[in-house]
Amino acid sequence: ERRHRSEEQVSGAKVIAQALKTQNVEYMFGVVGIPVTEIAVAAQELGIRYIGMRNEQAACYAASAVGYLTGRPGVCLVVSGPGLIHALGGMANANMNCWPLIVIGGSSERSQETMGAFQEFPQVEACRLYSKFSARPSSIEAIPTVIEKAVRSSIYGRPGACYVDIPADFVTLQMNVNSIKYKECCMPPPVSMAETSAVCMAASVIRNARQPLLIIGKGAAYAHAEESIRKLVEQCKLPFLPTPMGKGVVPDNHPNCVSAARSRALQSADVIVLFGARLNWILHFGLPPRYQPDVKFIQVDICAEELGNNVRPAVTLLGDINAVTKQLLEQFDKTPWQYPPESKWWNTLREKMKNNEAASKELASKKSLPMNYYTVFYHVQEQLPRDCFVVSEGANTMDIGRTVLQNYLPRHRLDAGTFGTMGVGLGFAIAAALVAKDRNPGERVICVEGDSAFGFSGMEVETICRYNLPIILLIVNNNGIYQGFDTNSWKEMLKCEDATTGAPPMCLLPNSHYEQVMAAFGGKGYFVQTPEELQKSLRQTLEDTTKPSLINIMIDPQATRKAQIIAEMESCNLQMAL
Ligand code: ADP
Ligand code: MG
Repeated sequence: ERRHRSEEQVSGAKVIAQALKTQNVEYMFGVVGIPVTEIAVAAQELGIRYIGMRNEQAACYAASAVGYLTGRPGVCLVVSGPGLIHALGGMANANMNCWPLIVIGGSSERSQETMGAFQEFPQVEACRLYSKFSARPSSIEAIPTVIEKAVRSSIYGRPGACYVDIPADFVTLQMNVNSIKYKECCMPPPVSMAETSAVCMAASVIRNARQPLLIIGKGAAYAHAEESIRKLVEQCKLPFLPTPMGKGVVPDNHPNCVSAARSRALQSADVIVLFGARLNWILHFGLPPRYQPDVKFIQVDICAEELGNNVRPAVTLLGDINAVTKQLLEQFDKTPWQYPPESKWWNTLREKMKNNEAASKELASKKSLPMNYYTVFYHVQEQLPRDCFVVSEGANTMDIGRTVLQNYLPRHRLDAGTFGTMGVGLGFAIAAALVAKDRNPGERVICVEGDSAFGFSGMEVETICRYNLPIILLIVNNNGIYQGFDTNSWKEMLKCEDATTGAPPMCLLPNSHYEQVMAAFGGKGYFVQTPEELQKSLRQTLEDTTKPSLINIMIDPQATRKAQIIAEMESCNLQMAL
């Protein structure tokens, strides 16, 4: 018999799920356990996609990538104490990248607080350093308000991570449905524009530049500014340089892209416009000797506190990148102007690009085995679909890979990012595959991992297989961190020594068959040692759109950057920063 509506009961778990649903949250990643299992079940019942991962860190990376790709935060659901602590890595990474994310952590029962409860930990305090907002609702009735605030905070202003703490006793408590009031879905982030006088000044600085350069960061990608920035590039005929995740906002093969002359472009430019890119280590802090001492920076950013970091900018444009770029375009519509395409600056850049491209092509064409990085990436690039997501991590693998693998679409590259985090790859790939499935059907996800990077979250291969996501994992395997040994040298070295005393810390087990990890869960695994094997396995994996696969690519374990010369000196790289 149906109960009268006013007596209908609802659990705390259902209130949380409904509050998230009302805020248009679509994806939840997590690892269930006491006390959050019911929350995952309730979310799934309401049509929120729940993806069960094998470690909270990877779950959190996945949730944050969904935020970056869709502009709507993903949720990471974790248990109390250690579960939440594992998620801190993902929160820190999201916050450093300025990506929206909601972490929901179960916590111990309120009645046992300070008594040494199961997995008791000061979670709200712990999250404060890793987030923009961290709070525990004071009651079940307060849950919708706190969740709305968390979602709103994660996407308004500079995006970032937000934490909501849910004590165990909230989850199962039954409430009268009528006592819960859900907040309407928060409005999309308000769009702010720069001061008109600052826009005029910026346009005039650009017009008077002798050697101008635009730098396109992942802030521009997140802001969906691709159309306006491309228009600015083409209308004013300006050279541009994407940051690692700014790649694809304007396609890498655009004639105005000067990635292959990165160092030279940075070093000689006299005016640089930054579209959502911070002057941190990735851009060498904006300081000499990587830049001219008197270079004029024009900074476009949504975060006022960012403006003026490390350098004194010539002009600051505080506002949304897309809106501000349109403001700049208005100036150039009013008084048309273009940078002369036959200038000395363009010629210098083109010359430099030609030389660097030739140098890396030469390395790529080397027939010697084991293969080097360039040979591998050139073959991958040859078969890479134009609309695929490229996820990448590792040191050399990521740095050299970025210079060869092209992005043609915005928000289609995910990597170790601002925080240089290793272990993000598989979580990011899972997020990208889900977003592709729902929003961009047919788009593939290629995840290019160093063998060391793969190890951080390797068990997520099971997650990939469980949800049957047709991700292509490439392990560029040099038997180590930065470098390793081949099997023979490894055996020789350890002949009279114990591995714990004799093995160099950078080494990993030589000749590891990572492809068998994929095969263990029903995906397809390939072990390749030659360019021909690589080509063939790539062709097969790209043809099979139904299954995940892993190609374990053996390369020269002693291949170092130094032996691999000039071209990558043009790239910003993790190893040089370390
Ligand atoms: P990259 O790593 O590509 O150099 P960063 O993460 O350093 O990029 O910089 C991204 C910047 O973009 C951040 O400073 C952030 O505040 C800014 N940002 C994010 N979204 C917007 C937006 N919609 N409008 C303007 N700036 C934004
Ligand atoms: Mg390696």
